[in-house]
Amino acid sequence: MPENLAASAGEEGSLTEVLLRHIGLHGPMSVETYWNLCLFHPRLGYYTRQDPIGEGGDFITAPEISQLFGEMIGIRLAEHWIAMGRPETVTLLECGPGRGTLMSDILRIAALVPGLTDALDIHFLETSPWLRGVQEKKLHPRHVTWHDDLSTVPHHAPLFVIGNEFLDVLPVRQFVCHNGAWHERVIRHDPESGFFFAVGGVVRGEGLPRAAQDGTIFESSPAREKVTLNLAARIRENGGLILMIDYGHISPRTGETMQAMRAHGYADILSGHGAVDLTSHVDFAAIEHALKEDGFQVRLKTQAAFLMDQGIMARATQLRNSVSDPAAQTKIDRALHRLLSTDQMGDLFKVMEVTL
Ligand code: SAH
Repeated sequence: MPENLAASAGEEGSLTEVLLRHIGLHGPMSVETYWNLCLFHPRLGYYTRQDPIGEGGDFITAPEISQLFGEMIGIRLAEHWIAMGRPETVTLLECGPGRGTLMSDILRIAALVPGLTDALDIHFLETSPWLRGVQEKKLHPRHVTWHDDLSTVPHHAPLFVIGNEFLDVLPVRQFVCHNGAWHERVIRHDPESGFFFAVGGVVRGEGLPRAAQDGTIFESSPAREKVTLNLAARIRENGGLILMIDYGHISPRTGETMQAMRAHGYADILSGHGAVDLTSHVDFAAIEHALKEDGFQVRLKTQAAFLMDQGIMARATQLRNSVSDPAAQTKIDRALHRLLSTDQMGDLFKVMEVTL
């Protein structure tokens, strides 16, 4: 937990009051600190307070749309396990497992591959106590070990890491071009206008592009790069792979993508503290660059290309033939369209695979 969160954990009041107090004490707040407090405040943060996923939540994710998604991930993991010579034990770590659906779909595939189910030692990286409970029920009676961070995940076996819509949960920093130089974008407050974005101190280095037109915004996420590099360092120990799926871009770009989500729609970033989700496109180009500098292999595909390559069409046909109810068949077709088509998730979502 970042120190500033620990410091405000014991204080009373609403999250808005916590933010006001923080600005009062420390001055204008970086977007990164604002994001951390809004999502991860130990008592009042968005991910501490509620279950955000599914029809009744604020957003819906690929595993919740169709079992086909998790099954294709399962096939990819099985292929890699076989290619590694079927190691006796593999640590399978899921980052941000949500409702546990992806893992249970993976386990259905694993059961079809002799030896794989027994080889999998399952670990979850999950901060929300509420979702841990949901995951435990979903995976029962399968044994799972939960972790707050990577430090307690065992070192002895090859490591397979998966994470769907995990990276986008981690905070971004925003920079704004002002008078020909990059500045930290900050959040201030005054009694008349409430919370508002403002221009903070000048920033140099930090992988910033060349200065652009005034008002241009650039986002970077040291937190996302750090977590991916730490996971990659762990696969260097005994082999393995990382599969991260998220919405984002694979070529560098400027512009603001941060947004607030509530009840499947857009909300105001600067209000509804703790009740709205904050998210932004994942800059896979920056993560890929950092990983390659450390000598890792990185392959990036669109979600549609990945799912097609893993054989989603054949499995969808099989599934469709196994149900006789036309409504159930239509549901499969709709889900397929949602996962694959260009105007839905097919292009916007990317699958990043990292190996040695
Ligand atoms: N993968 C799931 C859920 C995505 S939502 C799905 O596709 O449906 C993000 C998940 O990450 C939630 O389970 C949330 O509680 C968890 N999470 C958020 N911040 C986290 C952090 N810093 N470390 C670990 N898990 C986190």
